[in-house]
Amino acid sequence: SADMAMQLVKLEGRNDFHFFAKEMQQRTSRMLNLESALLSAIDNNELQLVYQPQVRISDRKVIGVEALLRWHHPEFGQVSPAEFMPIAENSGQIITIGAWVLKTAAAQLKQWLAQGHAPMIMSVNLSAIQFRHPNLTGLVDDILAKTELPPEYLELELTESAAMLNPDHAIRIMQTLHKRGIRLSIDDFGTGYSSLSYLKKFSIYKLKIDQSFVRDIATDGDDRAIVSAIIQMANSLGFHTIAEGVETQAQLDYLRTQGCDEIQGYLYSKPLPAEALSQWLIANRTEA
Ligand code: C2E
Ligand code: MG
Ligand code: MG
Ligand code: MG
Repeated sequence: SADMAMQLVKLEGRNDFHFFAKEMQQRTSRMLNLESALLSAIDNNELQLVYQPQVRISDRKVIGVEALLRWHHPEFGQVSPAEFMPIAENSGQIITIGAWVLKTAAAQLKQWLAQGHAPMIMSVNLSAIQFRHPNLTGLVDDILAKTELPPEYLELELTESAAMLNPDHAIRIMQTLHKRGIRLSIDDFGTGYSSLSYLKKFSIYKLKIDQSFVRDIATDGDDRAIVSAIIQMANSLGFHTIAEGVETQAQLDYLRTQGCDEIQGYLYSKPLPAEALSQWLIANRTEA
């Protein structure tokens, strides 16, 4: 009967609610546990950087590497950046962790150069909170001075959405960093909402085309059109382009025909620990 059906709906609704509440509670408690575990991650040596080569399409030269953070916790195991970065940002820990990342990445490049590896750029991700932090330039200056790494070797990646949060402020910070000789790139380009009038005022060197557009460029006409348009726009604004998440030769072939400058992705290498990356660089040396 209708009455019975009504009862059932109510009961199911209530079960849904209990299920939902339980799941929420579990998720919250995992987040709180991760947040407190993250506090001692640096001291316990649980953080590690892995490095992914960025390769110039025209001559296959490695022009740089991107540093990517990994967290291995004894109890939680490998926690992905997609899960712990938001926690680090919301709890403010990103300031300490971000400083560790910058310092570690700069020191690593300095060491590779000292070991005789060919000059290349170290690209480091910056979260919106780090970018807005009043001491960002002080921190960067300090790290470059201590590691004796010239600023020209450092690139900072800022996501498109972070740059557009407060574009007038972003312009000023970008100018300050640019004056020091540090390169800036816009990460995940195409996923935010860039105002083109702001984009041309940004002191940026490179646009990183988001991997969501790259994934299907071998087959999807819309994605091909989007990627092609981004590259043309970047060219006319004087920005370099790099495509993220390139996994296949077919993707690379299309990017080459469109005049994309560089690629980064599993086609060449996954992000690797420092020692493995060093070996990879030696094995993949191109003729001068
Ligand atoms: P992102 O900066 O856009 O980094 C690119 C992501 O794509 C990395 O994921 C990388 O491992 C992955 N990737 C690279 N090549 C391929 C490919 O060919 N196929 C596929 N499917 N994926 C590929 P990861 O390392 O999990 O990092 C995710 C995001 O976490 C990064 O996106 C970045 O936004 C953030 N992140 C990582 N490390 C740091 C850090 O040190 N600081 C900050 N602020 N954010 C970081
Ligand atoms: Mg990045
Ligand atoms: Mg990206
Ligand atoms: Mg991303």
